[in-house]
Formats: sequence, structure tokens, C-alpha cells
Amino acid sequence: MRLVWICALTCLAVPSAFGEGITIVLDFQGPRSERSVAEMKREFAGIMKDSALHFDFRSRSQASREDLSDLVVVRFTGKCVMDPVGYLYDERGPMAFTYSTDGIVQPFSEVACDKVTSAIRSAMAGGDFAKSDLLLGRALGRVLAHEVMHILSKSGAHGRTGVAKTALSGSQLIAPELRLEPEDVARIHGR
Ligand SMILES: [Zn+2]
Repeated sequence: MRLVWICALTCLAVPSAFGEGITIVLDFQGPRSERSVAEMKREFAGIMKDSALHFDFRSRSQASREDLSDLVVVRFTGKCVMDPVGYLYDERGPMAFTYSTDGIVQPFSEVACDKVTSAIRSAMAGGDFAKSDLLLGRALGRVLAHEVMHILSKSGAHGRTGVAKTALSGSQLIAPELRLEPEDVARIHGR
């Protein structure tokens, strides 16, 4: 089974602090499938349901018109769509990362859509291709949950199982269920 490093921490300087209501700003740099984005939000909400936190999503343009606090900004690079024909991308390097400064995790993440589509395409078989939009959304929801877990826990620590593992395979990203474990919820709440 091929495991892909799901994330790494890199550097940027902005302070962060969170209440119980958190706005996630989705900043798509390239094309995306609205069906996949809707499924990503649904999957994310399902994973985070035990966190007792409330999440709202905004586009970058919506966010610039509103006065928002407790923001997480997630930039999606590359093509967040499943093309009918697969392209070969360099799968080395993380699928996503979250910025940190002097060891302090910042509320900014970046998701490399091309690496996510590559990873799940290699794990898809048979009828999966007919629902590839939904599977991409599911995978993106899990990658997003992983990065938001780092931001909320203010930690680069990983779980032993579930969505907070250090590395996830394409098949784990599209499997029927991948959970946030109780220890991850405790980490999010600083316990
Ligand atoms: Zn991670």
C-alpha cells in the first residue's frame, strides 16, 4: 500500500486564537467541481461532528466583504477536478501543509489538489470511476479535516489511526469511513 505524507508544517507569521465558531475560507486557485466541494463540506462536517465546534464555509470573495473572526484560510492549488483521463503528477511531497512560525501553528493551510486526485485515482476501481466527483470530495474533506485538526490543536502531532494519521493512502482517503478519534478531539480541545 502506497502511503502519501498528508502534510508538513512550513512557515508564515500570523497569530491565531479560536472560539467555538470557526469560519473556513476556501480559496481555490484553479478549477474545481462544485459537486466535489459540496461533498468535501459534507464529509468534513461528519468527521468534525464530535468536536462540539461549529464550522461555516466562505469563499475568498465572500470573506473579503465580511467582518469575520476565528478564520482558517485554506488555499487549494492545482485542479480540484477528476479528469476523465488521468494525468501523471509527481506524487512526491505532501498533499497538504499548514503554516507555522517558530513552532506555532498558524491558521493557513494549502492543499495540492493534483496530488490528492493522483493518490485516489490509483486506488479507484470498477464503479468508483462513475462516482469520482464524490470520492474526490470525500478525500478533500479528509485532508481538510486533517489540516484543521493541526490548526485547532495548535500542534503538528498526529494520531495512530483515523484521519489524523501522519500518512494516508489513496484507498484510505476514499474508504467508506475515516474518523476523527477521541484522542484527536481531546487534542483539539487542548486536553
Ligand atoms: Zn499532519
